[in-house]
Amino acid sequence: MIIGSGCAGLTAALYTARANLAPLVLSGLMPGGLLTTTSTVENYPGFPEGVDGYELMARMQKQAERFGARVQFATVEAVDLAHQPFALTVDGERVETKALIIASGAGHRRLGLESERRLEKQGVTYCATCDGALPMFRNQPLVVVGGGDSACEEALYLTRFGSVVHLIHRRDLLRASRIMAGRVLSNPKIRPVWDSVVTEVLDVNQGKVTGVRLRNVKTGAETVVDCAGVFVAIGHTPNTDLFKGVLAMDEQGYLLPLRGAQTSVTGVFVAGDCADHVYRQAITAAGMGCAAAIEVERYLASLNA
Ligand code: NAP
Repeated sequence: MIIGSGCAGLTAALYTARANLAPLVLSGLMPGGLLTTTSTVENYPGFPEGVDGYELMARMQKQAERFGARVQFATVEAVDLAHQPFALTVDGERVETKALIIASGAGHRRLGLESERRLEKQGVTYCATCDGALPMFRNQPLVVVGGGDSACEEALYLTRFGSVVHLIHRRDLLRASRIMAGRVLSNPKIRPVWDSVVTEVLDVNQGKVTGVRLRNVKTGAETVVDCAGVFVAIGHTPNTDLFKGVLAMDEQGYLLPLRGAQTSVTGVFVAGDCADHVYRQAITAAGMGCAAAIEVERYLASLNA
């Protein structure tokens, strides 16, 4: 069984299917994973013109299914990894597996503000490709929070819809790759706001986003930037709550394999963003999925030896 249907999970499915291991992929709530929420993927090898993130994931699924993998729209609610076979509670039903690959990925990190929570889906969002084209954002000033590649990608995408895009970053240097940072800084519709953090999303009383309150971390000065939408792109947190106290993980929740893809429980393997806070690329996740699949194949062969 494979938990997760992003690049890591579907590559693991492709390899285990081709090894005749009849993998079942439990897709989670977002089939195809986070890449389905991105626009063009320009750095996945083999696509010189780039490829739409959703299309890339649909192709990966099709390729895995061609060799017999099954992909089920399902959520894992609990795991019991104390005995063989391992038991999973999947949408209320108990299912068993001899080997498990965890490729549960990561979710969007939140700012952690009460006003952010109250205005989610009412102007606060975590995905420009999903929501950017909504009428409420058209020809309006918009805000993107973050300084990494995701924030730059969101800001660039939103220039199609917003009148202006304010990029709020807590430092005065973007973390993003040079190529993305260059595109952002040379775009006349994007206005960087440096050294600033969002302290409140306005206006909870009106039930919609009208602006953000900012604090300059160097001077302490407070300002308000008017906007109709807040796109938060400040990184990710691993989807590993299910495994707390069961598998070794670091303080941020990233699973810690013992060696290769093998976790602290024999027969349980990890791949992709749930175990990687360093590279976090589509291609590295796919590579980790491949490695986990090869290790599963060897592990199952050793059980039967
Ligand atoms: P990231 O690289 O971790 O960047 C997160 C950004 O959010 C950083 O600028 C960080 O500030 C800021 N931040 C974090 N917590 C914050 C908070 N509580 N309040 C305010 N700001 C906060 O995450 P990412 O941009 O999502 O990228 C993740 C990975 O995916 C990276 O490896 C990236 O290269 C890759 N990616 C690549 C592409 C592409 O190549 N086109 C597109 C998207 C993502 P600091 O800089 O001060 O830490």
